[in-house]
Amino acid sequence: MKNSFRQQLQALQDAGLARTRRIVEGPQGPCLEEGGRQVLAFASNDYLGLANHPDLVAAAHAALDRYGLGAGASALISGHSAPVAALEEALARWLGQDRVLHFSTGYMANLGTIPALLGEGAAVFSDALNHASLIDGIRLARPAELTVYRHGDMAQLEAALSRSRAGEKWIITDGVFSMDGDLAPLPALLALAERHDARLLVDDAHGFGVLGDEGRGSLSHWGLHSSRVVYMATLGKAAGVFGAFVAASQDVAEWLLQRARTYIFTTGTPPVLAAACLAALERIRRDQFRRDRLKQLGAQLQEGARGLPWPLLPSETAIHPLMLGDNFTALRVAQRLQEQGLWVPAIRPPTVPPGAARLRISLSASHESHHVERLLSALRSLS
Ligand SMILES: *Cc1c(COP(=O)(O)O)cnc(C)c1O
Repeated sequence: MKNSFRQQLQALQDAGLARTRRIVEGPQGPCLEEGGRQVLAFASNDYLGLANHPDLVAAAHAALDRYGLGAGASALISGHSAPVAALEEALARWLGQDRVLHFSTGYMANLGTIPALLGEGAAVFSDALNHASLIDGIRLARPAELTVYRHGDMAQLEAALSRSRAGEKWIITDGVFSMDGDLAPLPALLALAERHDARLLVDDAHGFGVLGDEGRGSLSHWGLHSSRVVYMATLGKAAGVFGAFVAASQDVAEWLLQRARTYIFTTGTPPVLAAACLAALERIRRDQFRRDRLKQLGAQLQEGARGLPWPLLPSETAIHPLMLGDNFTALRVAQRLQEQGLWVPAIRPPTVPPGAARLRISLSASHESHHVERLLSALRSLS
């Protein structure tokens, strides 16, 4: 028999890979309440500072009064509510896409979409740093061929596309990589997709709301529009709420509605969440100042980190990884910051490759310049 769970847990401990949770007692914001004290956090994906915005909270209150709480059933039985329908339409119109299908979460969207879309004999080409939910969606789809290309390596991808004889090819990528904060080279990826008659699936969990005109995300950032692209994004990060969606052509969206098992066999989203997302959409579109603030804070952090003994990866997004390498170093630095009232998560394998442990510093438009300065001086004091 396999090692006991206790032995396996001890092994995780010994390798510096055990994970723990901390309890947040108040709302999201730059400062979180934990154990009765305020901690300055660089740990959320609430990039625009919308998670506790009064407009979203008011929209949720109003929807709660009108629709109550539960969706009651799956979307195809009786759980598809007016707020979810309105959200799908608003997203499609705003993004300039034929149609949007709402999913409960991003993880579920990827887990359902990839197996539903891939046909018999399909080949998949997947960036090595893709999010776990894409990897799991691909595993579930069991493609006839799978190439995992080195992160951003277009030459390797092109060679693999050329070699493949598959009748159906899918390139699958994050739009913004979740633990590195860098952008996928979408123009090059789309050009390759066109040359090799492939389709491109983009998971824009970290680009939606942050990049592009009015925050429309990575495709808008690069000025791309193509029927080859299936676009997926989440509503729990920059949008500050919960949920996800896939935007695509009429036929692709209808096929997903008919076939994506994580759409069909799960309870519909509570209307209150969709109503809050609609309010978030309004703030994303109108509040350019949030994206401007994020840029300014990012520049301040990048500039200030130059003297540190650890490299901060360059980033034009909200995600700024400070590379520490070793699991225990990452844990120790995170612990020392915690003692100074700062919360920055240590990210370790399997979320990142072995030897690439890091502090994932994430900024939010709700941070102030003096917050970034406080983080920088704490990091300096540790080096
Ligand atoms: C967070 C994330 C997801 C999952 O989205 P949830 O709505 O949190 O389930 C999917 N893809 C990427 C790239 C992510 O960062």
